[in-house]
Amino acid sequence: MSQSLQALDRAHHLHPFTDFKALGEEGSRIIEHAEGVYIFDAAGNRILDGMAGLWCVNLGYGREELVTAAAEQMRRLPYYNNFFKTTHPPAVKLAEKLCALAPAHLNHIFFTGSGSEANDTVLRMVRRYWTLKGKPQKHWVIGRENGYHGSTVAGMSLGGMAPMHEQGGPCVPGITHVRQPYWFDEGRPEGQDPEAFGRECAAAIEARILELGEENVAAFIAEPVQGAGGAIIPPASYWPAVKAVLAKYDILLVIDEVICGFGRLGEWFGSAHFDLAPDLVPIAKGLSSGYLPIGGVLVGDRVADTLVEEGGEFFHGFTYSGHPVCAAVALKNLQLMEAEGVVERVRDELGPYLASRWTTLADHPLVGEARTLGLMGALELIDPVSGERFDKALAAGTLCRDISFRRGQVMRSVGDTMIIAPPLVITREQIDDLVTLAREALDETARCLAPRLADEPQPEERPA
Ligand code: PMP
Repeated sequence: MSQSLQALDRAHHLHPFTDFKALGEEGSRIIEHAEGVYIFDAAGNRILDGMAGLWCVNLGYGREELVTAAAEQMRRLPYYNNFFKTTHPPAVKLAEKLCALAPAHLNHIFFTGSGSEANDTVLRMVRRYWTLKGKPQKHWVIGRENGYHGSTVAGMSLGGMAPMHEQGGPCVPGITHVRQPYWFDEGRPEGQDPEAFGRECAAAIEARILELGEENVAAFIAEPVQGAGGAIIPPASYWPAVKAVLAKYDILLVIDEVICGFGRLGEWFGSAHFDLAPDLVPIAKGLSSGYLPIGGVLVGDRVADTLVEEGGEFFHGFTYSGHPVCAAVALKNLQLMEAEGVVERVRDELGPYLASRWTTLADHPLVGEARTLGLMGALELIDPVSGERFDKALAAGTLCRDISFRRGQVMRSVGDTMIIAPPLVITREQIDDLVTLAREALDETARCLAPRLADEPQPEERPA
């Protein structure tokens, strides 16, 4: 069965973010079912899902309450739209719940079907806002290198992923990117202070604003912790300094919570961890624990008041904006998370526990840094011979990812950064397993790479 599915997959299925040729002999891994924090493949192997699907299955797999919520809503009203002057109970109740959970100034939500659509909406809203304020020239948006805000053309353009721009460009005009506060990538130069570096990155935003002309800059968009870019946790100095710059030039703050929202960092919204008060907040993924596709943009009073009072018709929306079945599942998901104290448990118990266990991996010869925040963690792989990053040609991260999967755990690789973001319902014992499996994957990666590293010139032999 799985053989024929793999053959059919190879013949007909173009996978997202995949080298179509690279499926090779082995083919795709067919995931058949899942339970709790585990996925099961067609051969019956149990795999610890260290990535909660794609950072989304916050409540874990197999929650009957979500299945029931979907089935009941599907029977009652499988579809109706929120266009013009109609809506339905699930959309209204979800809107109310989201605004109750969000910081006090976020009192409106515009629903979308995904995170990418949420970021398209952000771009539309930001530009509309400044036009309504009589400043149509204020249209530039500053994003960050390696930021990820989705795969639609606007999402790709707001994000700073160079390979996407190369393949999908030209990007939407009026968007530019500044450096991200990635201390490890900076080389962590000895004698230099990561906090000074955080301030330098904020200063780079100010420099870009002045280059573009302060009267021309509409918004700054960033993830609280850059997720797909490599689980990059900024130095403590970064966000306060960024906030000060944006306030100085009256620039809107967009915080993309598609990954960090709904408990990942131990708060309902990641921006709370960094004491941010964003004007617009794109959300998706964990909103429904990934059971059905739904996203949206939480809109702060400043922008909402203008759109509502001065905007007239907003020519924007999607067929599945606030889809009733997706909204019913999202609402139930939030209710369950609240009732079970999932977010508080990540903040008070599981996050600190993961930190204490995950950072023990820093003693592994392949690991240059092990970091966590909430239930997100990363390992920076280094060449044990040189102590520097591996030669890219070795594709050490991809190797480690594939080894890990074969040994029974999903970890994601972004270059040579290994990432974990398990379901938020993981137990302490499962965190122990996750760390043990990560160490075993590192060991096997080291064994595989050893013969190739032995061929490398040793540091003292390298040409100057
Ligand atoms: N923003 C961020 C921060 C994301 O991580 C993602 C998806 N990985 C998106 C937006 C896009 O969401 P979607 O894939 O649902 O369109």
